[in-house]
Amino acid sequence: MAEIKREEEKSLNFIEEIVEEDLRSGKHKSILTRFPPEPNGYLHIGHAKSICLNFGLASKYGGETNLRFDDTNPVTEETEYVESIKEDIKWLGFSWARELYASDYFEQLYQLAVQLIKMGLAYVDDSSSEEIAAQKGTPTEPGKRNQFADRSIEENLLLFQEMKEGRYKDGEKVLRAKVDMASPNMQMRDPLIYRIKHAHHHRTGDKWCIYPMYDFAHGQSDSIEHITHSICTLEFVSHRPLYEWFIEQLGIYPSKQYEFARLNLNYTVMSKRKLLQLVNEGYVTGWDDPRMPSISGLRRRGYTPESIRFFTEKIGVQKRDNLIDLSLLEFCIREHLNRIADRKMVVFDPLKIVLTNHNGEVEMLQSENNPEDPEGGFREIPFSSELYIEQEDFMEHPPKKFFRLAPGQKVRLKSAYIIQCDEVVKDQQGKVTELRCSYLPESRSGGDQSGMKVQGTLHWVSVAHAVTAEVRLYDRLFRVEDPSNEDGNFKEYINPDSLQVIKQVYAEPGLREAVGGKPYQFMRKGYFCLDRDSSGDNMIFNRTVTLKDAWAKVQNKG
Ligand code: ATP
Ligand code: MG
Repeated sequence: MAEIKREEEKSLNFIEEIVEEDLRSGKHKSILTRFPPEPNGYLHIGHAKSICLNFGLASKYGGETNLRFDDTNPVTEETEYVESIKEDIKWLGFSWARELYASDYFEQLYQLAVQLIKMGLAYVDDSSSEEIAAQKGTPTEPGKRNQFADRSIEENLLLFQEMKEGRYKDGEKVLRAKVDMASPNMQMRDPLIYRIKHAHHHRTGDKWCIYPMYDFAHGQSDSIEHITHSICTLEFVSHRPLYEWFIEQLGIYPSKQYEFARLNLNYTVMSKRKLLQLVNEGYVTGWDDPRMPSISGLRRRGYTPESIRFFTEKIGVQKRDNLIDLSLLEFCIREHLNRIADRKMVVFDPLKIVLTNHNGEVEMLQSENNPEDPEGGFREIPFSSELYIEQEDFMEHPPKKFFRLAPGQKVRLKSAYIIQCDEVVKDQQGKVTELRCSYLPESRSGGDQSGMKVQGTLHWVSVAHAVTAEVRLYDRLFRVEDPSNEDGNFKEYINPDSLQVIKQVYAEPGLREAVGGKPYQFMRKGYFCLDRDSSGDNMIFNRTVTLKDAWAKVQNKG
């Protein structure tokens, strides 16, 4: 797969430095990373960052990456999500060494918990979650152990066994690790490691009614798989001492946890819980709505895997949280599409041109498919006496430097001829309905003998040959940069104009052959791809991105 060329040779990021040191010192002969999604939603661009990092490290240093579904919460997890996650990772261009599930380790994890109990390092607590929270203390005040912490090993073993057998209701009892109620790190104050949940699990069915908590499942799963570098996001820094405590007490394989800053993108939200609300409450049409920051949404919007990998490489691996500008992602996709997209001419808002000196015979003109690609070849475009140009490319009373069409003014039609506007035809309301023009037969592109210099070049289509399509133009999903950090509910900040549909646009006939998954540049309009809602003659195109950064322009003006 051809990668987008790097602008500059990057220095190592801090995780690469650690890996190189571990390989050099002989601490590890090879590395094993994992990508550990919880199958409770579709993947988003933030996950792509983690995927590129984990798989990228392994491939750079000749190691491997496991795909491990972190499926320890039966209530929110579904097989549909498992399938979508696998599809998205493959689409991004990565393959995993093993497909694994934390739920496959339920028996092993249970045995590890029993081992902790036998070591006097875990106890069954009957307190309610409120009581437990109250006894935990505050960051400045130590917590207090309750009487349940004094239960004997035998009693704890029996009660934990009974929890497993389903003798208790949800929330009636929990298993806690006996760590340190006075630790300044709240995570170490006798954390919960097992809870009772009588719920159907997407893989283990009704076999279990106790489930391990994240902290007791994640590190132990890493250890079971002999993960060398367990990379997660910064929220887990405070969990690292606990991660290490379990490994040390249990004497299991010493996986190591490293943390990097999660990717945050402005004008969107990036938590599966919030994205699920947008889907369930109908703010978008589904997880793959082209406005969603999900991988499936970006794919449907026309993003390429290369552009997403390029983006994650450009933002690098940070140790501090920040908000990345959406325009960087747009820059990355433009870079790629400019090189690979075939050009097409499509008129969105037609104004008819009649060439009064044309004999009406259809002429096939040649135009480059892609000027950026020397091997892109040419296509044929029919030229005739009746054409459409864009309404906005004509002004009856133009200001200075309006280099498009105006009475008496000349422009070039792309890959065709120079035309001059001779007469403006209007209806009774004074609306311009047609322009009567003449063309310069000797000015044909590629063999221009006219000696005429014109400034503007317009896209156009032949009226008789145009094919029609619907286009969907997208804007950012939220009106504010960081909707999750505003007052009130993030949904109040949804951009009501994030989708604009133009039911009928007019395209050169070659667009009829458009296929899904292939990008097109509609000249002067942006990059587009065929949407899956298309059927037969009813073509629907999504705009992936505009040609220029329209937002930067607006902001500079303001
Ligand atoms: P969300 O809050 O969106 O549900 P999550 O962290 O709960 O995200 P997981 O399925 O647990 O989602 O994440 C799988 C992996 O992807 C984890 O290692 C997590 O750290 C990483 N990840 C999730 N979101 C981001 C992000 N925005 N940037 C970088 N990595 C992320
Ligand atoms: Mg998570």
